[in-house]
Amino acid sequence: MAQRTLLVHACCGECLAGVLGPLASAGRFAVLFYNPNIQPLLEFRRRLKSVQVLADHEQLDLRFDARYDPKAFLRAVPWDRPERCEACYRLRLVETARVAAEGGFSAIATTLMTSVHQDHEAVLRIGREAAAERGLEFLDEDWRPLAAHGHEEAKRRSLYRQQYCGCLFSEAERFGPTKVHLFRGGADSDLPAGGQRSRTGGDG
Ligand code: SF4
Repeated sequence: MAQRTLLVHACCGECLAGVLGPLASAGRFAVLFYNPNIQPLLEFRRRLKSVQVLADHEQLDLRFDARYDPKAFLRAVPWDRPERCEACYRLRLVETARVAAEGGFSAIATTLMTSVHQDHEAVLRIGREAAAERGLEFLDEDWRPLAAHGHEEAKRRSLYRQQYCGCLFSEAERFGPTKVHLFRGGADSDLPAGGQRSRTGGDG
């Protein structure tokens, strides 16, 4: 029987770091960073860079799509949960299966299976469907018990660790209830409630 060759979709450096052990024992594998859901641009680049740093260090075979196109993502998904997340998983896993099939891989996997914040059953179902459409196997191991390990590895390796899932909706869901980053004004402020800077503010 031919040996399995695996293309692993990586959502971020932290989740990838968590599953390097099982991947090493799974046989030959390559990694794909395809995450058009990540917004805004600098966040997208931070997460890609984190995967690149890890791949360089571990000498992984990394393929990535560095194009940033928020309009395409916002057109491709409904804007409310749970349909939005299901469409987001599908977008990424269908592309992973396409790249895998064209690259001669026999199976796909995703580090989304590591996250305790994702809808695990939906990832599993959509991963299986995307793989089957291309005649591939989907590696359906539950990697959630490795989430804490990924967190520790990311800290140990000084990898970037994101604070929200990826899209702008998830950023608002994460930070909307907090007031931590709100500007409250202060002794030096010359900004009235309407936001117009005072002419007497002394900034020339
Ligand atoms: S919350 Fe996460 S999984 Fe859901 S659409 Fe946004 S980036 Fe994708």
